[in-house]
Amino acid sequence: MAKAVIAGNWKMHMTCAETREFAAAFRPLISDLPDDRQVLIAPPFTAIPTLSRHLEGTGVAIAAQNVHWDEKGAYTGMVSAAMLVEHGVTHAIVGHSEPRKYFSESDEQINLRARTAQKHGLIPILCVGESLDQRETGETERVIHRQIEQGLEAVDPTRLIVAYEPIWAIGTGKTCAADEANRICGLIRGWVGHKDVTVQYGGSVNPATIDDLMAQSDIDGVLVGGASLDPASFARIANFRV
Ligand code: 13P
Repeated sequence: MAKAVIAGNWKMHMTCAETREFAAAFRPLISDLPDDRQVLIAPPFTAIPTLSRHLEGTGVAIAAQNVHWDEKGAYTGMVSAAMLVEHGVTHAIVGHSEPRKYFSESDEQINLRARTAQKHGLIPILCVGESLDQRETGETERVIHRQIEQGLEAVDPTRLIVAYEPIWAIGTGKTCAADEANRICGLIRGWVGHKDVTVQYGGSVNPATIDDLMAQSDIDGVLVGGASLDPASFARIANFRV
């Protein structure tokens, strides 16, 4: 059985000083994690070296919040896969709904990011999910199917994580009902076409909802925003019980 993957996405939070405080508080809380799970944290780029140094020996892996599709070049403000690998990063989020929205990222660009990540040995975490409007108009399945089909063209499904993050559940406190999240994660698994692909749920995951989510048959992990900033909350999530 593949390990469950519990990932924290810090978004634009945490200075290096705050990262050191987080790591000091988090470390003892995850010292007895069962080995059926992998914990990842995606800090802002600037906190990657601090986090990896201060969590050394804990088994927590470091992810990037995005990765550029080109090897190098005139892309002001961007970070390449090789730069991340040099810092021990093992995973990269691609296609999160925030860069899709604020930076107009297209499925084609997201696909190139995922391919470049894999080329450098990084595991892409492809985020997909519908808006509230799309859910209410019955577009959910069509939207996610398209994001999967275009996002994963020529991507190796054996070195991949897909995160189902309904946009209406992100940062709203409205976790998607576990059975509905499970249904969509099952569809995603079918569309990816590799039954062992890791499929995560993300969107207002918290200590009160984690055990129910992880008890679902098609949910192999979670991608956690707000609750991953608090060491006690994220440790409780990492210590989920089924
Ligand atoms: P929240 O857990 O804050 O809803 O964020 C989810 C998310 O976007 C993780 O990538």
